[in-house]
Amino acid sequence: MNTCRYETDPMHAQLASWIAAARKIVVFTGAGISTESGIPDFRSPGGVWSQSQPVFFEEFLRSSSARDEYWRQKSITHREFASAHPNLGHRVLADWERRGLIRGVITQNIDGLHQQAGSQAVLELHGTAREVACLGCQKRWPADEWVAWYEEHLQAPDCPDCGGPLKHATISFGQSLDPQVLEQAARWSTDCDLFLALGSSLVVQPAAGLPVLAQSQGARLVIINRDPTPLDTNADLRLAGPLGETLGQVDATLAGTVQAST
Ligand code: NAD
Repeated sequence: MNTCRYETDPMHAQLASWIAAARKIVVFTGAGISTESGIPDFRSPGGVWSQSQPVFFEEFLRSSSARDEYWRQKSITHREFASAHPNLGHRVLADWERRGLIRGVITQNIDGLHQQAGSQAVLELHGTAREVACLGCQKRWPADEWVAWYEEHLQAPDCPDCGGPLKHATISFGQSLDPQVLEQAARWSTDCDLFLALGSSLVVQPAAGLPVLAQSQGARLVIINRDPTPLDTNADLRLAGPLGETLGQVDATLAGTVQAST
C-alpha cells in the first residue's frame, strides 16, 4: 500500500524511481545543504565572503598579520559550526547510506554535519573545520581548543611541539586539495550510474568537474539547487529545492515506490 499523504510531485517521483533503479549512486554536496542548519553559504547575500575577504594560503604562510586575520575569521565561523545541527537533508542522506541506497557523499563542506547526521562514507574535498593541523609536523587537534586559545590571546597560534603555524584542517584558496581524497572522489564519480549534485553553485574547481566526469562515463546527473548553475542545461533532472524538504519528499516517495513494488 502506498503511504504517501501528499500529492506526489512528478519530478520527485522521477527522481525516486531513478534512485530505486540505480546500481551505484554518488551524492555531491555543497554549502547549500547546510543553510537550513543556519550556516550561511558562500555566495548568497549574508554568506561568508559577502562579509570579509578570504585569506589566501600564500598570504597565510608569508605574513603573521594575515595569520591573525585568518584566525579572526575562523573564530567567527567556528561558533556558527559549533552550534549547528544536521537538518533533514543531512539525515535523509545518512539514512540512504545505512539502507545501502547510496555509496557515499562527496562534500565540499567543512562543517562535519554529514558525519554528525550518521553518514560514514564521506569524502571531504575541502577538509574539515572541526580540526586544526600543524603545517609543520601535521599533528592535529580538535578545533575547539585552539579557537578558545585564539579568543584569549587574539593572535594566531603556533604548534606547541614544532613551532609551525597552526591552521584549520581545511583547504584555503590557493592551497592544493589532498590528492588521495580527490582521486577517490574521481573514482566514485567514474563508477556510478546516478550522480546527485545538491546545494552547490558548481563553480568551485576541481570539485565542480566531478558531475561532468560522472556524466561523461554514462551516469545520470540530477541537480538540486536553489539558484541556477552552469551545469543546469546538462542535467537529466533539475530541481530548485529547498533541499531538506525536497529530499524529505523524495524519501517519502521512495518509500511508496519500494512498498508498491514489494
Ligand atoms: P556556494 O555558496 O557557491 O553555493 C551554494 C548553493 O546552494 C547556491 O547556489 C544556493 O543557491 C544553493 N542553496 C543555498 N541554500 C539552499 C537550500 N536550502 N536548498 C537548495 N539550494 C540551496 O557553495 P559551494 O558550491 O559549496 O562552494 C562554496 C565553497 O565554500 C566550498 O568550497 C565550501 O568548502 C565552502 N563553504 C562551506 C560551508 C560549509 O561547510 N557549510 C559554508 C560556506 C562555504
